[in-house]
Amino acid sequence: MQCPFCQHPNNRVLESRSAESGRSIRRRRECLECNRRFTTYERIEYVPITVVKSSGDRESFDRTKILRGMVRACEKTGVNAIELEALVDDIEAELQQRSRREIDSQEIGELVLQHLQRLNEVAYVRFASVYRKFQGIQDFADALNHMHSVPPTAAASTNQEVASARLSALLSSGSNHN
Ligand SMILES: [Zn+2]
Repeated sequence: MQCPFCQHPNNRVLESRSAESGRSIRRRRECLECNRRFTTYERIEYVPITVVKSSGDRESFDRTKILRGMVRACEKTGVNAIELEALVDDIEAELQQRSRREIDSQEIGELVLQHLQRLNEVAYVRFASVYRKFQGIQDFADALNHMHSVPPTAAASTNQEVASARLSALLSSGSNHN
């Protein structure tokens, strides 16, 4: 690693420590020529992932987009930023493990939903409602059928009313169902 001040190729490492929650190593170095100090980071190299949108357009995978959507879905649910960061890490790692470098945006959305469902049901429904662009209450009902831990309301008589009641209960409860 060249010195950024004098471009001398040799330096010595003064200190190495884990950074970015263990995802990188930070090294403090001293140039053997000018004795000035600089910092380097060592990270695993990730192969870029291309996302194929429903329009057919391609763009590179952007974790901040996913994170932004999840932060919105998780407002007032008790899910904290660290949990969400970890979840995005999991999703990204999962995508990295795949042999295909091109992934449909729909597949990523479903992956987010799977992870959110395990983390928090309110967040799951909120994300699903935006992501799947629910057309009506029946779509909510379909999503709710995938959930298991919320009992239906006794007063509701049709599937749609049940779904609606369960949904409002979920959205107003704001609690974490872990
Ligand atoms: Zn130097």
